[in-house]
Amino acid sequence: MYINTYYETINDLANEALFMANALERCACHSDIVIRPHNYEAERHAYALANIKIKQNDTAYMRSDLTKAIHDNILEAVDDECPVCAAIMRD
Ligand SMILES: [Zn+2]
Repeated sequence: MYINTYYETINDLANEALFMANALERCACHSDIVIRPHNYEAERHAYALANIKIKQNDTAYMRSDLTKAIHDNILEAVDDECPVCAAIMRD
């Protein structure tokens, strides 16, 4: 139980930081689709933000878990464009 909360907290903070830094964005038409614009500057910024947030949250954590959470969130996103919008544009 405690372990799950720990990973959820880290994952949420990573996710929040990625959106705050514009390292990830949602499709304007499909809010369930998360896009990675491959803005490496923003991704570095998100990592720094996540570190600050997690310290403010007073969570004892492993740096490697935060790195993994950021990485997982980025990998779950689609590359560069929303595939649904792209398919409509091609029609
Ligand atoms: Zn879309």
